[in-house]
Amino acid sequence: VISINHLDHSFGEGQLRKQVLFDICLEIFAGEIVIMTGPSGSGKTTILTMVGGLRSPQSGSLKLLGQELCNASSEKLVQARRNNGYIFQAHNLHRSLTALENVRMGLEVQGKLSWAEMQTRAVEMLTHVGLGDHVHKYPENLSGGMKQRVAIARALVSHPAVVLADEPTAALDSKSGRDVVNLMQKLAKEQGCTILMVTHDNRILDVADRIVHMEDGRLQTNTVLTAA
Ligand code: ATP
Repeated sequence: VISINHLDHSFGEGQLRKQVLFDICLEIFAGEIVIMTGPSGSGKTTILTMVGGLRSPQSGSLKLLGQELCNASSEKLVQARRNNGYIFQAHNLHRSLTALENVRMGLEVQGKLSWAEMQTRAVEMLTHVGLGDHVHKYPENLSGGMKQRVAIARALVSHPAVVLADEPTAALDSKSGRDVVNLMQKLAKEQGCTILMVTHDNRILDVADRIVHMEDGRLQTNTVLTAA
């Protein structure tokens, strides 16, 4: 699903140029949950944004569902964004929209369904994540864990091939964090999607099929956790 080969990336120009990724090679298969760990500044978010089609890699190869994203056209990057669902640390919900409207946005960007179909699917998805009684609430009236469940519903409502999560439990207490990752794992299994998650949270590493560790822009280890 994700195939990264000899990927390098630098930010800045001339004397300010700084290489942040060095010869990254990583293969992620359909249905896997892969967790990426590593110290701050090691390049994890940069990789995530590239897989997500938010930034184009400069050299090497990065294929998402067989499509090359290295030096890709903006149309290809837009398509890549449609194949991904995102979950961020700070949930990134629109404060002026209800839970239902936030989740519906996950379908509106796809532009495939009628308004009524999107409304029905968004309600179903919120019910599925245990928020059926809260669909008309605004983010400020939901707890941190509930907001993150809305963000998960928004990311998965369009059945993306890949879900990218950047520190999804960082703002949560351990019980809510555990609930959130268990929910992501359950939905990923049901939908058959692949998850690539960045985290510093050692308490949730057990949901991974594989852990990859980054140091100073280099991939250091690649550990398979699930029994074959
Ligand atoms: P964190 O855990 O703190 O989010 P990270 O491992 O995700 O860290 P990145 O955010 O990928 O690390 O950053 C890798 C390096 O690239 C850092 O040195 C950072 O300062 C630099 N960097 C990231 N984005 C940019 C940018 N837009 N312009 C210049 N440098 C950047």
